[in-house]
Amino acid sequence: MAGTIFSKIIDRELPADIVYEDDEILAFRDINPQAPVHVLIVPKIEIATVNDIQPEQAELIGRMVLVAQKIARDAGIAEDGFRLVVNCNRHGCQEVFHLHLHLIGGRQLHGISAR
Ligand code: 5GP
Repeated sequence: MAGTIFSKIIDRELPADIVYEDDEILAFRDINPQAPVHVLIVPKIEIATVNDIQPEQAELIGRMVLVAQKIARDAGIAEDGFRLVVNCNRHGCQEVFHLHLHLIGGRQLHGISAR
């Protein structure tokens, strides 16, 4: 995969409103938020889609969920609730082919869509 826009954010070639970072994971606010809290949680290694996750990356994926939990708690939306969404390929309306969790909350959500 030739670096996506998220690789450029990870490499600080493009600006982003970063809310969390560790050695393996970066989280930043979505440029087009669908709710008061809309954060993208991204592994620093390039994994294009859910289809490309390898068994040995299971822990990394689990840590991404824990990062989402922390961000939700820090944002004060954990108790009211939120949505975690991963879009995959065309039918999933994936636009950026670098795996990411959408953390969406801060208002009442409807249906199952992220939009
Ligand atoms: P996808 O449809 O691939 O699951 O979601 C990609 C998300 O990335 C979209 O919600 C879109 O608004 C967001 N996005 C696209 N380009 C940028 C960018 O340059 N910066 C940030 N912060 N978000 C972006």
